[in-house]
Amino acid sequence: MKLILFDIDGTLLHSGGAGKDAMIRAFEEVFGVRDGFAGIRMSGKTDPGILREALQRAGLSWDDEAVERFKRRYFELIGEELRKPRPAQRLMPGVKELLEALRAHGDVVLGLLTGNWRESGFAKLAHFGIDHYFEIGAFSDDSENREELLPFALQRLRDQRGLELPARDVWLVGDTPRDVACGIVHGARVLGVATGEYTEDDLLRAGATSTKPDLTDTSTIVKLLTEEPGGNGADD
Ligand SMILES: [Mg+2]
Repeated sequence: MKLILFDIDGTLLHSGGAGKDAMIRAFEEVFGVRDGFAGIRMSGKTDPGILREALQRAGLSWDDEAVERFKRRYFELIGEELRKPRPAQRLMPGVKELLEALRAHGDVVLGLLTGNWRESGFAKLAHFGIDHYFEIGAFSDDSENREELLPFALQRLRDQRGLELPARDVWLVGDTPRDVACGIVHGARVLGVATGEYTEDDLLRAGATSTKPDLTDTSTIVKLLTEEPGGNGADD
């Protein structure tokens, strides 16, 4: 059995700016600051980490009550922003075929490991009709620090499925060096996919186990993600 945890933005889909635009609107409404995320690079970061940067830039301190209001408003606006026509918005190539093939394989649990908050992450997946593939998830609701997320996914696998998996049976699939780091720090393997802002070389240098230009090579990727460490198909 393998646990395969996907990142969302840049890996499964590109929201075409819907996430950022919803954050900008919610930030202005709640904190009264226009264009609060200008100049902040979002890729690979967690939503609360991005919010913290924006607050610092605006000279504001973190206030739990205001942050809750921001989140509620962001969750309302993200659906609206996703429905606007956006040329860059898309499911990444090969994603649907890969998810179908992995589900058909049977000996895997599919999940998420993402810097999104759970609610907005699922809103993005639902917009593209792929939310139902994912059983287990670790989100930035669990920790603002991405490197702390993997144990939450493993705990949910124990709680929900009664499965205890060693880290070597966990794969992360992600598009940034931050995805790579948050997997290898726990001994998981990481497939880096160059559909975001980083190249295969960037992801290999960060320590990715393997990389692909995109997720279209379905049969090779299914084989990679489901075979035993060492690649000979034998268990040790
Ligand atoms: Mg990403």
